[in-house]
Amino acid sequence: MSAIDTLLVRLDKVRRCGRGWIALCPAHKDRSASLSVTETDGQKLLVHCFAGCTAADIVAAVGLTLGDLFPERIADQSPLARAQRREAARQSGLTAALGELSRESTIVEIAAESIRRGSKLEPEDVERVHVAAQRIQDARKVLSL
Ligand SMILES: [Zn+2]
Repeated sequence: MSAIDTLLVRLDKVRRCGRGWIALCPAHKDRSASLSVTETDGQKLLVHCFAGCTAADIVAAVGLTLGDLFPERIADQSPLARAQRREAARQSGLTAALGELSRESTIVEIAAESIRRGSKLEPEDVERVHVAAQRIQDARKVLSL
């Protein structure tokens, strides 16, 4: 079972939202599907709770560890492997910027969906949308080189 499926089967009220999913956050008393789960590059998971729960809180609440969902965190730490990852990261700057755009647009989409349902955005949600807008602007700078 993939990491994303391992997580999704443990969540309630899961549904697709754009390129990811939203669900009830297991780490707090959630009634408005505050949790965004996005898979990027077919590998990495972005777990974001609009109420501010950390990724560690969220996975712990469903009996998992970050290592279960983010295997790259326990990747080979040898100097050569790290240098290769840095080089790969440098070369994939454009891809990374596109991934960032995808993730941040999901944040904006979730906020829009929340507003559509008549929910009032909490101040931290509004702040997160501002962060998303800034990151989208930053990605634009990278992509326009
Ligand atoms: Zn939460």
